[in-house]
Amino acid sequence: MGTAEGDGEGTRLQKVLARAGIASRRRSEELIRDGKVRVNGVLVTGMGLRIDPTRDRVTVDGKRLEPGAAAERHVLLNKPRGAITTRSDPRGRKTVYDLLDATGPPLIYVGRLDRDAEGLLLFTSDGELAHRLTHPSYGVAREYHVWVDGRLDEVRVRKAAVGGMELEDGRTAPFELAGGGGEWSIVLREGRTHEVKRIFAAVGGTVVRLRRVRLGGLLLGDLRTGRARDLTPAEVRSLRRAVGLGRRGRTAGL
Ligand code: URA
Repeated sequence: MGTAEGDGEGTRLQKVLARAGIASRRRSEELIRDGKVRVNGVLVTGMGLRIDPTRDRVTVDGKRLEPGAAAERHVLLNKPRGAITTRSDPRGRKTVYDLLDATGPPLIYVGRLDRDAEGLLLFTSDGELAHRLTHPSYGVAREYHVWVDGRLDEVRVRKAAVGGMELEDGRTAPFELAGGGGEWSIVLREGRTHEVKRIFAAVGGTVVRLRRVRLGGLLLGDLRTGRARDLTPAEVRSLRRAVGLGRRGRTAGL
């Protein structure tokens, strides 16, 4: 069974419940305190127990948590400029994975951000969810705030938003655009390499700062730069719904 808090091994019980979509972290703590949760048959009412969600058997109100579901994880990172979106860098430079805690299942990033870009970077252990969120056929919105230098052709970029912009790898899908001068907001529904920078470059602008602030219904919000947090069950549900995936990770009837 699990270990006491403090030795750094395993995942806190309330976190396992939250990750499995049972309830928010706070509500999961209440469920534990109220005597609803057992680990390997033993009633647990104190906070701080760490368990191995792939091995320990957790029940809530007598209903078993699926081990796979308990091991699922979705994390939002506010990527700082300078971190590289890759699992490992052969030159030993800082990667986005250096900013995550290493507990739980392996995480896949959803939609690369350039090294000099910042903002919302989602990670998930669910390969199908990652695939659908990035595949252009699902058209999930990615919203960016963009700071641009240079005298760009505003009429042309606004026109391109309606009909798509011709780039060297073909015409982009139409996009939403707001702002003007040196500051813009753009919403893309496909994820081509350097797409935002190439759109603005095509009309005479140079992107000097780029921040992703939204993916589907998931918002960067006020998460501090360089910090990561687990998604709430409601956020996971909203992302799954956006790409036609049903609920999962709940014990029957909860
Ligand atoms: N578009 C870009 O140009 N860069 C990014 O990192 C993301 C979108």
